[in-house]
Amino acid sequence: MKNQLHCDNGEGVATRHSLTLFCAGGTNTRIGVQPQRSTPSVTAHNLCAGLAADNGMSKTEKLLRELIALPSVNSAFLPTRHPRAGEQRVADFLAVCAARAGLEVDFQPVLPNRSNLLARLSPANKVRQRILLAPHLDTVNGSEPQFTPRTRNGQLFGRGACDTKGPLAAMFVALCELARSRQRPKETEIIFAGVVDEENAQAGSRALVASGLKADLAIVGEPTRLQVVTAHKGSLWLQLETRGKAAHGSRPELGRNAVHTMARIVNLLQTEYAAKLRRRRHPLLGCATVSVGTICGGAQTNIVPDLCTITIDRRTLPGETEVAVAREIKSLLRRKHLPATLANGKAAPCLPLEVNPRLPVVRQFLRSVGQTGPAGVHFFCDASVLAHGGIPSVVFGPGDIAQAHTGNEWISLHSLERGKDLLLRFFQSFS
Ligand SMILES: [Zn+2]
Repeated sequence: MKNQLHCDNGEGVATRHSLTLFCAGGTNTRIGVQPQRSTPSVTAHNLCAGLAADNGMSKTEKLLRELIALPSVNSAFLPTRHPRAGEQRVADFLAVCAARAGLEVDFQPVLPNRSNLLARLSPANKVRQRILLAPHLDTVNGSEPQFTPRTRNGQLFGRGACDTKGPLAAMFVALCELARSRQRPKETEIIFAGVVDEENAQAGSRALVASGLKADLAIVGEPTRLQVVTAHKGSLWLQLETRGKAAHGSRPELGRNAVHTMARIVNLLQTEYAAKLRRRRHPLLGCATVSVGTICGGAQTNIVPDLCTITIDRRTLPGETEVAVAREIKSLLRRKHLPATLANGKAAPCLPLEVNPRLPVVRQFLRSVGQTGPAGVHFFCDASVLAHGGIPSVVFGPGDIAQAHTGNEWISLHSLERGKDLLLRFFQSFS
């Protein structure tokens, strides 16, 4: 049943302006949630089911199954109004669960019908420290069966299982359990921020930073195999264009072949430039890389091509800037007498991440997880956006990035539960 969530004990309806729950014993709870402009109504049975363990299934697994069954494919990857597009169903569902757990719930509008969800657990005393939990709500697209969760041999399969509804579920359940426990932080506020659009342009985390939200540490939920990740590479997309002179294919000597020039550039980037980058190493991230991803040139076989373009994926290390990379490539081309124009192919920068692992709160997290040193990964995520917005950020979550975006995405249920337990232990270290 699309867009309908099942509850064992009753049913509930989420509307544009408020969320009403009909739970066990017939008590209705009206939750103050800010009006969502043009949020589609979500009919829900047992929205509480996501957090009630039964049938030997843990709360975390149950919540993850609910989340997989609620498609939230980034709208950039689907036609507008596609039934699987958008994060709002997931945001509305989590808002209800959060409010039931006693968290303060708020929405931050980011894009049309796409809002970040904020769920806050305030301490008993004055707020002296703030921890932000920031998993993204969107996924990449998948085949129809991937939106029905399936369990086999201790693994839960489905789109988003590891990227990143699994890490999200671990964070969310840990926070709800903390809210219900006696060991609540005294002076530390914990905010769960489910952000939109990570898989495309990170509009959600950019909006969070732009809102002026400050925190002492952000834990960005991504599948890191339960490692606290303190560094990742940045991602730069560049476009190179060569211009030539068109001529009849029978008289190539009268033209200038833009494809030929570009072929020499591609070779240069993939050999000499790549070798130079292999010598540039970061202790946690290895070397910077370059990869020519697309090429397009020429209009017709019997015309000497006057235009050729390529796109380049350049993964950067902490300390490398977009301006410096562009300068480096331009000067290499100049030295080889290969004329081309260079442009940036991304609307927003995706910078590398490197947080100081000696920050007290980072050390406290590392200790809770039982990790002795910092770690790095190759993939880019929201942590970079938050860090460059002034919030020290690490990446953490159950699951393995090797399964992310695949046709058979899964997460180990053991690591899902362990992730929740480690996060809860960390939160309780503030009490
Ligand atoms: Zn992700």
